[in-house]
Amino acid sequence: MGLINIASGSSVWRGLDYYNHQRVISYKQVSDSEYESIVLGSNHEKYHVFMDVSHPRKSTCDCPHANGKRIICKHIVALYFTVFPSEVDSFLKEVEEAEREYEAYEKERVNKLHSYIYGMSKQELQETVFELLDDLPEWAYDRFIRDKVGM
Ligand SMILES: [Zn+2]
Repeated sequence: MGLINIASGSSVWRGLDYYNHQRVISYKQVSDSEYESIVLGSNHEKYHVFMDVSHPRKSTCDCPHANGKRIICKHIVALYFTVFPSEVDSFLKEVEEAEREYEAYEKERVNKLHSYIYGMSKQELQETVFELLDDLPEWAYDRFIRDKVGM
């Protein structure tokens, strides 16, 4: 997953979309780790992609986004997924795993917040409400007073 890990999130998702739409017109393996390819761009331009999976930073594409820069663009990603289709599943599994971890973390945070609030004394709660009101934007402060105090 080296090449995928150094690409930006948007390049990976757009490259995956290009892979799903079979935009890699042709490719050939030129060494153990190097590939040359033609990938169809969004306006039907054909871009020349060179990919080195052992040294992903040496990969190049002549699209306007990546040309002359060390950027892993969506065309390189599309080629990578075309050559290694099983990496699509690995990538999607990693994303799912990360989402599950994030959800578990969020749930844990909310649980801790609830125990914290339910454990506060009345005085602590009153002080905290005043502090929070001080930090509110004016419209939210006004709404609180209107809804809760009736003024
Ligand atoms: Zn490109």
